[in-house]
Amino acid sequence: MRKSDYTSPERLEAEVEFDQALRPLSFSDFYGQDKLTQNLKVFITAARQRDEALDHVLLTGPPGLGKTTLAYIIANEMRSNIKTTSGPVLDKPGDLAGILTNLEEGDVLFIDEIHRLNPVVEEYLYSAMEDFRLDIMIDSGPSARSIQLTLPKYTLIGATTRAGLLTAPLRARFGISSRLDYYDPTTLEKILKRSAAILNIEYEEIGLSEIAQRSRGTPRIANRLLRRCRDFAQADPKLKSHKGVISREVANHSLTALEVDEHGLDEMDKRILHCIIEKYNGGPVGISTMAVAVGEEPGTIEEVYEPYLIQEGFIKRTPRGREATRLAYKHLNVTPTKENQPSLFS
Ligand code: ADP
Repeated sequence: MRKSDYTSPERLEAEVEFDQALRPLSFSDFYGQDKLTQNLKVFITAARQRDEALDHVLLTGPPGLGKTTLAYIIANEMRSNIKTTSGPVLDKPGDLAGILTNLEEGDVLFIDEIHRLNPVVEEYLYSAMEDFRLDIMIDSGPSARSIQLTLPKYTLIGATTRAGLLTAPLRARFGISSRLDYYDPTTLEKILKRSAAILNIEYEEIGLSEIAQRSRGTPRIANRLLRRCRDFAQADPKLKSHKGVISREVANHSLTALEVDEHGLDEMDKRILHCIIEKYNGGPVGISTMAVAVGEEPGTIEEVYEPYLIQEGFIKRTPRGREATRLAYKHLNVTPTKENQPSLFS
């Protein structure tokens, strides 16, 4: 595992099982995102009262914030079955037809990474979403003909980390559209308490609070760091006196060993900040230039690193590119010089 993998919000192969064990199945166990869940509850109740399928739902937001979890909760609360797939998997129209024709009235179809749908497949999805109809071509050449299939009334839940990449016609076909935001430390602490109870981990509140502060506002990262802290508590000889309990000292020691700093910033976050400040005098610098300089994909920077750095006030986006703020200088202990001075208003 690379060091920065500890604070990567992406799901890692090895943790699929944990992800499932820790995934809340009802709104009562899903903490935070209050506005979004309140609205969803209303829409679900209304649809159930009318005995209809819920309108199609689009969930957007950075990875690890609970989009998949919400899709399962929605299906649960609608008492529906859920089928899951993802944009890149639906490679050909036939793949989509296969999955749609197997749906039953009221089912939920979850498509993760919906921005990565093949454009041809996406075209088919339009009528399947709007009119619950699928026109498919069979045969080719002179004997080619199209047949029309009527689909049951289902609910499509699309999830995307990159709302900006969604085409307008697709976006317009979602009746409900919600954005998930990063979690505050208090909410993350609640999530951690629930996870600790499920995993039988002993803790002191202050220990969990320390993990919550350093989890980049992301439940997936918080749950991962919790498990790593448990390892340190259990097996690091220096922490023997803590008897496996996640105390503040255990959390501190473990997170420092994992190189997670007090804001949850990891190596790549810091590389980005150092790059803006040192190579580009505090900015502005364009995303693709910066991506080359730090050796990461521009998409990953935009999707994974930048939103958190912006939300925490370390960088800001300007029409001319990204700029480092005073907070970034302070955090990295860099004294602004004449050349790299952040603007007065940052
Ligand atoms: P996404 O689909 O947005 O990448 P997931 O739904 O897979 O994120 O969530 C990642 C993990 O974080 C899940 O296993 C779940 O345990 C946890 N999680 C996410 N949101 C919440 C929440 N609001 N309350 C409790 N746990 C959550």
